[in-house]
Amino acid sequence: MSMMNAAVFTGPGRIVLGRKPKPVAGPGEAVIKVTMTTICGTDVHILKGEYPVEPGLTIGHEPVGIIDQLGAGVTGYSLGQRVIAGAITPCGQCHTCLDGHMAQCGGHAIGGWRFGNTIDGCQAEYVKVPHAMANLALIPDGLTDEQVLMCPDIMSTGFGGAENGAIRLGDTVAVFAQGPIGLCATAGARLRGASRIIVVDGVPERLAMARRLGADETIDFHEADPVEQIMRLTNGAGADVCIEALGTQQTFESCLRALKPGGTLSSLGVYSGKLGLPADAFAAGLGDHRIVTTLCPGGKERMRRLMNVVASRRVDLGPLVTHRFRLEEIELAYDLFANQRDGVLKVAITP
Ligand SMILES: [Zn+2]
Ligand SMILES: [Zn+2]
Repeated sequence: MSMMNAAVFTGPGRIVLGRKPKPVAGPGEAVIKVTMTTICGTDVHILKGEYPVEPGLTIGHEPVGIIDQLGAGVTGYSLGQRVIAGAITPCGQCHTCLDGHMAQCGGHAIGGWRFGNTIDGCQAEYVKVPHAMANLALIPDGLTDEQVLMCPDIMSTGFGGAENGAIRLGDTVAVFAQGPIGLCATAGARLRGASRIIVVDGVPERLAMARRLGADETIDFHEADPVEQIMRLTNGAGADVCIEALGTQQTFESCLRALKPGGTLSSLGVYSGKLGLPADAFAAGLGDHRIVTTLCPGGKERMRRLMNVVASRRVDLGPLVTHRFRLEEIELAYDLFANQRDGVLKVAITP
């Protein structure tokens, strides 16, 4: 049996470089030789034991690579093709997928998230892709691995927040938190036609990056109250759409308070414990507010569209990759990323 290197979760606080058997593609599956991947904030939750996965699991859900094996019944692809797969790998066949909610594949919440959650992930030399024909997306010629590295998760999620927020031409949009997903939500809001984008964060470098990706106004929450500032900037009207990209009671509530009646709160955050809905911020339920949530949209058609956006140069997310590591250095990469040192936004990991 041939072996490979992989980043393995061995228990809370420990993701280590280990040796695992190279996967073998079964019927309907494919194996990708991973040429680049990255670390997600969700992986840090796993590392800290805040999101439970089985010890021994390979982590990572953002694969870029080359088709190494095609299992029985997988047609329309050939070995050696450059591909990505989304962080979410829907079956594409169940009622929930066919109903348009592929991230909830199988009819249970988060059911489409398999890589580095319920099956071995892609922070490894090879990764097995389930439901290959629903998930392998060919990389257009001329795009580098790094150019498409944000598509599987960060771009799909951040843009998804802007799309599900149903941003219209001329909208004022506020985005709370400018980590990688919030930054992609800002870029997505711009592409959707928002005419004014106000972003909130506490890290000056992130606010500067937000301006580069389309923010018109930035608010450092250390310096000013974000809700007051958004109300002031909109002459008391509030935003048409507020995007929550952190997952805390405070940012969720601030989104509600900065929203105009009839506005939409588009939530991307991952919450824990209870999330309160204060009656005064919610117009006692009579404000025609809409609250929508989005888990990273996946599947090959989603990936194809996102790569088209990159290929057409409508957006350049390249600057989000601030650090580069070899897979052998994965523990160092986690240390840097988890502790948010040295202005890190996203790391590129090369097996
Ligand atoms: Zn992720
Ligand atoms: Zn499905």
